[in-house]
Parts: sequence; structure tokens; C-alpha cells
Amino acid sequence: MPKNTTNKRVCSFCGRPESRVSMLFSGMGESCICDSCVEQAYGFLHERMHKESAQSNPLAGLDHIPTPAEIKEHLDQYVIGQEDAKRALSVAVYNHYKRIKYSDEQHDPNEVEIEKSNIIIVGETGTGKTLLARTIAKVLHVPFCIADATTLTEAGYVGDDVENVLVRLLQAADYNVAAAERGIVFIDEIDKIARKSDNPSITRDVSGEGVQQAMLKLLEGAVVSVPPQGGRKHPEQPMIQVNTRNILFIAGGAFDGIERSIASRLRSNVIGYNGTGTRRELDRHNMLKYILPMDLKHFGLIPELVGRFPMLTHLQPLDAEALRRILTEPRNALVKQYQALFKMDGIDLVFEPEALQAVVDTAVHYKLGARGLRSIMESIMTDYMFSLPERAAGTTLHITGTLAHEKINSANINTSLLQ
Ligand code: ADP
Repeated sequence: MPKNTTNKRVCSFCGRPESRVSMLFSGMGESCICDSCVEQAYGFLHERMHKESAQSNPLAGLDHIPTPAEIKEHLDQYVIGQEDAKRALSVAVYNHYKRIKYSDEQHDPNEVEIEKSNIIIVGETGTGKTLLARTIAKVLHVPFCIADATTLTEAGYVGDDVENVLVRLLQAADYNVAAAERGIVFIDEIDKIARKSDNPSITRDVSGEGVQQAMLKLLEGAVVSVPPQGGRKHPEQPMIQVNTRNILFIAGGAFDGIERSIASRLRSNVIGYNGTGTRRELDRHNMLKYILPMDLKHFGLIPELVGRFPMLTHLQPLDAEALRRILTEPRNALVKQYQALFKMDGIDLVFEPEALQAVVDTAVHYKLGARGLRSIMESIMTDYMFSLPERAAGTTLHITGTLAHEKINSANINTSLLQ
């Protein structure tokens, strides 16, 4: 056993005496190792294994690429309605991963090169854009991050450089570059970087057109230098090189007011067809379903950016029926979550249909959308959850319509939820 001059046990690796470490493990003969050396060695080993598995098989985990029908089936478990968007996303994601898998396997330069299929989802806030992107990432087991376009500015201005989008992805991938390079980035609020008018700007527009320009490189596929901890780039900083060629970008935005430009485009088209009998009945409550890339340009996205999102899909506004289904049907539906919480204390929780209707009506009345459902449910359930441990196990709690109304009214929903 290694001993120092005073005959005390020491770590054979770092030489620290037993008194200066938390734990010293004895090995064969005289060798010892301290807790911090074990930890350090584990760190090295972990990093190396990570690197090796990523390098040997950058598509690890993608042996079986789920088919569009399988992807959609998975989305159906979490996202209510939004059939068009689900189908479009399922196909785009399937093609994307097929593209990565086969472009890696085939090196024949004459092969057809399949282009990237970045997607834009247009839909009112709270209709499931983020939920869709998040659920897709879950089914594919790839790194996923959400970046907010509003925080980005053109390099050199106050705000985040566009490359910082990739820092989040790297973090989500535990700094495994190969894994990050096939991840999915959801860029939220892409509509907020629209330029302010349809004309190219004369003055600098650092948070709008400038960011769009900066984003082009990222979207198309390039090797980008990323500062590992985020923040501004500076010359002394070590950089991580990330190739964005196989990263799937999904952008989402509400594009407030875009319905007007869709409507006016449709009106002018309809005039052309008048009298020919081809005039179709328009669904005035859901103009987004007629959206075309030209509407995004009209809104203020530059044509180059629109061109880098070959897929465009839309989400439907959520009506009362959809909100009601959201409360009860998804795998992690709010009602199921509360029931699970109560079950842990041995109580059966039953929501009467009238109670659920009260929740939906409140969400519709105050235009809170799906996001508001949670707060309304909390306002009903908080008191019950407070006294839950005192309740006798084996009993059933019925939330009736009257109870729900009482709780909602006393919670002052209108002021507390609308912020
Ligand atoms: P946004 O369109 O603003 O990105 P989100 O995806 O963040 O909206 O949705 C907000 C919340 O509302 C989600 O966490 C989810 O609970 C619920 N939600 C919205 N749309 C749906 C939907 N179609 N199906 C199920 N839940 C939904």
C-alpha cells in the first residue's frame, strides 16, 4: 500500500493522503485510488465512449426509421386534430431521415441528391406548434431544442447571434457533435423577424431582415463555428464546428393578420374564375388552410428564407370540441394527470361532463386557448389537492358542474389568466 513518509495511505494516482480525500479505495497490493480520481477517470471514459459510438455510427438509434404512418400514430397520442400538419410533418421527417441514412451509405456522385425538407408551421398561438415539434423529437430519439427567433439579432448587435440556436442543440445532445448534427431545431416566432414592410429596407433592420439573412446559412447546410457556452463570439474563444446539413429546422409562427393577405389574394383569383363555374366555397373561419409561400413573402419574410423551407403547413384554430378532447384524450391529458395524482393517495377522481364543459366554456369565453386549460383546472383543483392527504383512501371525489363553476368564479379567472 503506498504510504507517504509519515506512513499514511495515499492515492496512487494523485498522491493525495487519505486525510485530504473523501474516500480511498484499496486495490491489489498497495495500490489505492481516491474518489476524485475515480470520478475523473469515469469522465474520460464516458466522453470517449460517447465520441466513439457517435463516430462509428452517426445514425445510432436510427436503425429503424419510423414510417410516416407510425410517426403520425405517435403524434395522434399527444396532439388533437391538426391532421394536415401531422401528415406533412410525418412525411417531411421521414424523408429527412431517409435522406441522411442513404446519403451516408451511398457515395456515388451521380446519385440523385435529395434536398433538405425544413418546415414552416403557421398557426395561432397555443394551437400546438411546439407540441408537434416536441412530440416528433420524442419519437425519433434525437436531440431537440427550441430557439426563440425574437431573441436573435444580426451579429454585432445587442441580442443573440444566430449561431446560438446551435448551442442549445449541442447542450441537448450533451455536446455530442455527431448527434447534434442530426437533431431537430424548432425556431419559434419566426414571424417576429419579418421585415416591417414588403419593400427591401433602405435603413438597417437588425432584428428583422438582418437576422433572416444570417439564418440562411444555417438553414441551408454549412459548417458553423459555435461558441460552446453561447454568448458573443470572441477571437480567443475555442469554437465547436457544427455542420448543419442534416439538421432539420422546423419554424413556427402565428403570422397575425396573414389571413387578410390570403383573403385578398383569393378574392383576386376568384374574380378571374368568375362565371366559369370553378369558384369554390371558402372556409372563412380557417383562411390559413389556403396559405401559400407568397403570403409569407408578403408578410415580410425574404424570398430566400421562404425558399429554404420547402414545406409549409398550417394549424387549425381550436374550437370548443377540440379543447374538450385536449382535456381528456391525449396520453398526458390534464384530466388523466389529475386522476393519477389522486390515485397515488388512493382516491378515485371523476370529472362530470358538465365540469369539463365549464372549463372549456371559460377557455373559449376568455379566448385562453389550450394553454389556458391548465390554469382553469388548477383553479378548480388546488383546494382539493391541498386537503387530499387528509381524505380517506378508497373514496371517490366527484367534480360536478356546479362545483367547477363555483371554483372558477371565485378564482377571478379573467384577470389572473389573461396576463
Ligand atoms: P404554440 O402553437 O403556441 O407553439 P403549444 O404547442 O405550445 O402552442 O401549445 C400550448 C399547450 O396547449 C400545449 O402544451 C398543449 O398542452 C396544449 N395544446 C395546444 N394544441 C394542442 C393540440 N392540438 N392537442 C393537444 N394539446 C394541445
